[in-house]
Amino acid sequence: MGSYVYDFAEGGRDMADLLGGKGANLAEMARMGLPVPPGFTITTEACRVFLATGELPAGLDREVVEHLAALERAAGKRLGQVDDPLLLSVRSGARFSMPGMMETILDIGLNDLSVLGLAKIPDRERFAWDSYRRLVQMFGSTVMGVDGSLFEDVLRRVKDQHRVEDDSHLDVCDLMRIVEMFKDLILERTGSAFPQDPTEQLRQAILAVFASWNGERARLYRRREHIPDGLGTAVNIQCMVFGNLGSDSGSGVAFTRDPATGRPGLYGDYLPNAQGEDVVSGVRDAVPLQELATLDPVSFARLRGYMGQLETHYRDLCDIEFTIEHGVLWMLQTRVGKRTAQAAFSIASQLADEGLISTDEALARVDGDMLARLMFPRFDTGVAAPVLTRGIPASPGAAVGVVVFDSGEAVRRAAAGEEVVLVRQETTPDDLPGMIAAQAVLTSRGGKTSHAAVVARGMGKVCVCGADALAIDLGARRFSVGDVVVSEGETISVDGFEGFVRLGAVPLVDSAVMSYFEAGSPAPDAAVQEGVPEVHRLMEHADATRRLGVRANADTPQDAARARRFGAEGIGLCRTEHMFLGARRPLVEAMILAPTENDREVALAALLPLQREDFTGILAAMDGLPVTIRLLDPPLHEFLPDRTDLAVRLARDEALGRTQDPRDTELLAAVTRMHEENPMLGLRGVRLGLVKRGLVAMQVRAIAEAVVARKRAGGDPRAEIMVPLVGAVEELHLVRQEVEEVLSTVARETGVPVTCPIGTMIELPRAALTAGRIASRAEFFSFGTNDLTQTTWGFSRDDVEAEFFAAYLDKGIFETSPFETIDREGVGRLVEIAVREGRAARPDLNIGVCGEHGGDPSSVHFFHEAGLDYVSCSPFRVPVARLEAGRAAL
Ligand code: ADP
Ligand code: MG
Ligand code: MG
Repeated sequence: MGSYVYDFAEGGRDMADLLGGKGANLAEMARMGLPVPPGFTITTEACRVFLATGELPAGLDREVVEHLAALERAAGKRLGQVDDPLLLSVRSGARFSMPGMMETILDIGLNDLSVLGLAKIPDRERFAWDSYRRLVQMFGSTVMGVDGSLFEDVLRRVKDQHRVEDDSHLDVCDLMRIVEMFKDLILERTGSAFPQDPTEQLRQAILAVFASWNGERARLYRRREHIPDGLGTAVNIQCMVFGNLGSDSGSGVAFTRDPATGRPGLYGDYLPNAQGEDVVSGVRDAVPLQELATLDPVSFARLRGYMGQLETHYRDLCDIEFTIEHGVLWMLQTRVGKRTAQAAFSIASQLADEGLISTDEALARVDGDMLARLMFPRFDTGVAAPVLTRGIPASPGAAVGVVVFDSGEAVRRAAAGEEVVLVRQETTPDDLPGMIAAQAVLTSRGGKTSHAAVVARGMGKVCVCGADALAIDLGARRFSVGDVVVSEGETISVDGFEGFVRLGAVPLVDSAVMSYFEAGSPAPDAAVQEGVPEVHRLMEHADATRRLGVRANADTPQDAARARRFGAEGIGLCRTEHMFLGARRPLVEAMILAPTENDREVALAALLPLQREDFTGILAAMDGLPVTIRLLDPPLHEFLPDRTDLAVRLARDEALGRTQDPRDTELLAAVTRMHEENPMLGLRGVRLGLVKRGLVAMQVRAIAEAVVARKRAGGDPRAEIMVPLVGAVEELHLVRQEVEEVLSTVARETGVPVTCPIGTMIELPRAALTAGRIASRAEFFSFGTNDLTQTTWGFSRDDVEAEFFAAYLDKGIFETSPFETIDREGVGRLVEIAVREGRAARPDLNIGVCGEHGGDPSSVHFFHEAGLDYVSCSPFRVPVARLEAGRAAL
């Protein structure tokens, strides 16, 4: 057994790291006894050597020769032999599926001599020359780097001369001429001839596949899908089978369940008399797979049998590529198929029902990103917007955007903030940047398995394909449907559920899943559409499984009520600063600018009843559940007008000879006095409470009085008081004394006992590092991971996220922004230290997180592992956090 090359018979599905997904699954199918054309796989390890050194590893050549010899013996023919030569495909295939992102070269082994040998076989003359034509074209563009459009130009010229539309109308002489022209083109462009030696062809093709790992579109795809750059691809070398040998041949793609909705059944496309690339590229319209039942009942029955076998074996939805050569079925690929979010929930739930997987496994197979996608809005069907056209609904969702016709324009407009819909006849891997930039992809050709459909589904993008009434005029940058003409820049609405395309922006409404959460009812009622029952089932299992609590960040009674309907078990962060805005600004200004202690007390007293009302409403909405209220955190000048605006206003008044408003002058002086170079690290958080006398007392009194009011109304208020930005236990100690004093004063005044746990945010490295001491004065911790990330990295979030982060992501310094997904190594380490030392000092310390990371799937898993008690996130992320907390506990 060689170290860099494995025969299909030596591999298996558990070897995907080494053999790539395609190679491992080809081996698995061969092992299951399915008809796979024989072949072997060069490992990803060999690719990694190539990527590191620029050369193939020593000994690889010899191993390939040995395996090739075995293949030749098995096939009974040799590569390059003059009569009926062996032909090979050279196929890329990485650990993670990257559909169409890397190279595959077919028909290796044909040359000026062997093409004649092949052509001598009865009925194969045209086929031989067409295959040679394809090889020279594919080899020329992908291996030798000649611009693919130059080959297309040649083809078009010949077709125009003959006034034919389709390649299939070209005869043998035309094809011979085209081959000569292609070879000339290659020589002229590269200075090298198309290699006639089949082993040289093979060698160059292998190198080209390895090199395609670092092709631009492959890298872009990996970055988007978070696939590591260092894995490399395997290369599969396989005997060719031919689907283009007449009407008893063909190629197709099949899914064991509907990848769009998850419904069980038989889905796929079949293209008679064609090679597989023709199906995927959508150049010719395929027929539904069911029609194979009439075209070739024997192969159809076999295929169905294999599909059932594969689904039971992989215990999941499989997608399959197959080819029929003269009535003989060959399996060319299978893998656990990509699917939409809705299909993921449906299929996982069905497979659990069918007993193929456990409910735990079903839960593991869905994730928070999918759930978030199901919560996206849909088009309002009550609005009568005329349908422009209809295509195949290939990837669900509702998207509105302006029409663009190429990838570059999509990227440009999206960068300028526009929402765009990419409209193409069909897409190719070169359209990837535009597809990423677009809200939706609309094509006029191709089916559910076309490139556009497969890639869009993988990305969770809306896609409608095969809208064949759509005539695109690329030159004029417009398309028409009948008499209706739509130009670039006009707005359309694309419905990926039903396949409808409408003019203009159709209004959006809640999805069924969103309505289910909004209803807050324990079980879905009539709404069985859009996978609601499956979502319900897996959410229930997640809730039963998870150890982490899930709370919400909410500042208003409305948000609190919604969060509760979405399943929040309390509020982890109620920010009081939002209560200082709007109509209350004048009061807040008066409080900040108060010239004397007495003036400040008057202003604070005016704010008190307003704050009390806010808290009463929120405690009512969360009755019986904890509500963590954070004392005022931001610097006070955030509540005053902008310094530059004020200065401009005053200067303008002066220039116009108007009398300046004395209030403005006073405000400017105050704003200037309070100006900070770096407010994020300035007078804010607990520092504010310690410096601005009366502020803490007013807020705590408002909380305490709200608690009393709720208790008197028969409620069960559970307020918790949280101190922000503590760095030293002494700070907390001082504030705590003041808080406790106010609480007992209010209790005394009202005769109602008021006990609130008092705790602190951990959002400075110093707090995390001295957590043991801080815990002696805190009943709970809540990690403020936004500030903790800023202060640990020394990043000012608002200043770094745009350009600088893009460069960092590009250079691979991080794979996702540390503000999106918790940085486990750095910030996460501080969290772990604080949890350990905090609990050591106070075993019953309650610990949560209230930064935005609380709703991020990967971060939720980290918080589970770190032993937190709960996560808190925005109300809309609560279902996502519940689901991920359940998955983390599996
Ligand atoms: P991708 O990873 O982009 O799907 P593949 O390696 O599957 O690329 O190759 C693309 C197409 O080439 C396949 O769908 C199949 O139709 C065709 N193909 C690959 N190998 C063979 C083969 N041995 N015989 C016939 N067709 C093949
Ligand atoms: Mg394939
Ligand atoms: Mg903070």
